[in-house]
Amino acid sequence: MANDNTISRRKFIGAVAAVGATALSACAANSQPTSRLWAADRSSGKPPPRGEFIVKNAFIVTMDPKLGDIPNGDVHVRNGALVAVGPNLNAPNAEVIDGRNRIACPGFVDTHFHLWGSFARGVVADGDFDYFPVMSKLGPVMSPEDAYASARLGITEAIYSGLTTIHDWSHNIIDGRYADADLRALRDCGIRARFSYGYSRNLQLKPKETADFNDIARVKREWMGASNDGLLTMGFASRGAGDTPPEVYRKEWEFARGIGLPITQHAGRSIAEIKRFRRIEMLYNDKLLGPDVQLIHTYSASERERAMMAETKVHNSIAPYTASRLASGLPHLGDLLKRGVQCSLSVDTTTVGGNADMFSIMRLMLQLNHLRSMDVMDVQPRRILELATLDGAKDLGIADKVGSLTPGKRADLILVRTNDINVAPFINPVLLLVQQANPFNVDTVVIDGRILKHKGELVAIDTEEVINKAAEAFHAARKRAGGPY
Ligand SMILES: [Zn+2]
Repeated sequence: MANDNTISRRKFIGAVAAVGATALSACAANSQPTSRLWAADRSSGKPPPRGEFIVKNAFIVTMDPKLGDIPNGDVHVRNGALVAVGPNLNAPNAEVIDGRNRIACPGFVDTHFHLWGSFARGVVADGDFDYFPVMSKLGPVMSPEDAYASARLGITEAIYSGLTTIHDWSHNIIDGRYADADLRALRDCGIRARFSYGYSRNLQLKPKETADFNDIARVKREWMGASNDGLLTMGFASRGAGDTPPEVYRKEWEFARGIGLPITQHAGRSIAEIKRFRRIEMLYNDKLLGPDVQLIHTYSASERERAMMAETKVHNSIAPYTASRLASGLPHLGDLLKRGVQCSLSVDTTTVGGNADMFSIMRLMLQLNHLRSMDVMDVQPRRILELATLDGAKDLGIADKVGSLTPGKRADLILVRTNDINVAPFINPVLLLVQQANPFNVDTVVIDGRILKHKGELVAIDTEEVINKAAEAFHAARKRAGGPY
């Protein structure tokens, strides 16, 4: 519900937050002041129309190997597609967004994000309040509506921060309603996503039981049809070898492959894990690894296991914040890239990582690789930016649609201000994005041609309502779980 009071209060709170983040823009953009393309009615619950617009005079970092960087160029978008990218474009019918003092680049692609826990980031700390003990108490008492409110919080922050695709690694599916809740949240927010159907705590405690194949097939049937505009795809999230016996995980993987779902699997996260089993080796020996498998973490993978990853062409999603925060281990990024392994970056969970902030993730990834390799030249910032955009899209099998600003692809792009106090003066776009920027510098976010953030504000989502609903749901769930969690 919105009235004049709440709107002005929201604007005021937004302004205070922006000042607090030292992110005031030194120069307001001269975009057309009002357009139905970026003045959606937040209370309607409807996404804004796609329409036709052009970003004029931006510094374009296309991430397309052929197009490269275009220091002063335009991006023409129509009906969700990138029509043209280049200097001095002519688009007489397009509405104009001023791109001056902005970098235009592809939206960020996250490749592993447990959305369901997003509302609990305020309590997860260390010791008894570590991620695993807290979430194993909260997860089982959550209702589908809690899952929806929590996922919406995570997605809203992601969009605000310039993520245009996320991989929802959903592993609190107590029954099918929880899968539907996540998918509703993804659809309602208008983000591009892969939804990977996982398991629940209950199923984790029953390693001999297989996943609910009927419900996985139902979700695929009901959600992956033409009605989702192609924004949503689906995968299978496995408990995996070591935590389940061979007859169970083999059957599950066979089922997933049988209905065409790619598989995602945590593996080699920590020293504690490899003391129990070496999952990559087990899966390799079972001949189950392949290019349709995404392994997550792999910080404790042995040299032999890293060679297995390269040989079988599995993908690897790396989450530098949770790796360091949980003292899991240092990623082997440089080594894996040299071996030709398809790598990408992920949030994992904001309860541990703090934020859905790909700028920080890129920065930390770069720095952890410096520590791993003891060589600041081993992996360079542009390669990191590629991991956060085009490589994420490759990992999720959607690089023909997104990941670079290539004409013909879908319009998933962001505009990042270059004249804010924390990034000025503007010299090098890649250093700005990887070494300096933060989500408050994201001026505009476009997903599938829909403008979801403009002039630093989410235009289609009622942020205050999302926060209130998530907080309300969290406090009630915490009480049911018998807090102090
Ligand atoms: Zn994870």
